[in-house]
Amino acid sequence: MKDAVDLTVVPPVEEIAGRFQALQEQVAKAAINAGRKPTDVAIELAVKYQAPERVMAALAAGGTLMGHNIIQQLEATETALQEANAPAHRTHVIGHVQKNKAKKAVQYAQCIETLDSIKLAKRINMLQQARRDSGEAHGPFDVMLQVNSSGAESQYGIEPAAVSELASQVLELPNLRIVGLMTIGAHTEDPAGIAHSFQIVRTLRDSLIAAGIASATELSMGMTHDMDIAIAEGSTIIRVGTAVFGPREIT
Ligand SMILES: *Cc1c(COP(=O)(O)O)cnc(C)c1O
Repeated sequence: MKDAVDLTVVPPVEEIAGRFQALQEQVAKAAINAGRKPTDVAIELAVKYQAPERVMAALAAGGTLMGHNIIQQLEATETALQEANAPAHRTHVIGHVQKNKAKKAVQYAQCIETLDSIKLAKRINMLQQARRDSGEAHGPFDVMLQVNSSGAESQYGIEPAAVSELASQVLELPNLRIVGLMTIGAHTEDPAGIAHSFQIVRTLRDSLIAAGIASATELSMGMTHDMDIAIAEGSTIIRVGTAVFGPREIT
């Protein structure tokens, strides 16, 4: 399917539904090749820098989950989608969250995949407590810990060796629920190197569950160029932008 879709041109909005369907087929194929069920892998639309009508087209085609990197875009897009009566969907934050943006993140998203410090965890815990007190929210806020699985200096996320300690600190916070781990695959052409970075995170997820954190089931890993590898390594959520929306001028 990769060959059928030209990843170098930006498709017009009318083609987004077809691109999304092609992606669903590719994901199903990769899952079956890995001995998994197609329904075990969710597609998260990475919608950074996409106009709301393009996001809307992907939701109309069956998308139910989207990921935002930039909190300002999260707020603007969610507001526009609400005004346009968009289909029901869930929204995650997949970009680094600065402390002063945490409030909007918690207000407009249902999960922050990029938790990488106890400081940010405490802030989200406090914000969610306020939302529970006011009746705006009823349960804990979902988070994933972002793991720097490639060792690249340029990547956000905590070291693999720090996952267990941050997880146990987060467990102390009553308004947070750890739902899994997120990572960006190693930036290399070598499939074995990419697979290795995903294996590290899968092993960490398995050890969180073994340690009694039963809610930590998700593995958010895989993007347009490495989703087949991620699915083979157990990804439960792939975050895909380019395959559906085409290349971005800004990245
Ligand atoms: C942009 C982005 C993606 C999607 O990348 P594509 O290569 O366009 O599929 C996934 N995850 C994160 C964190 C991103 O910033």
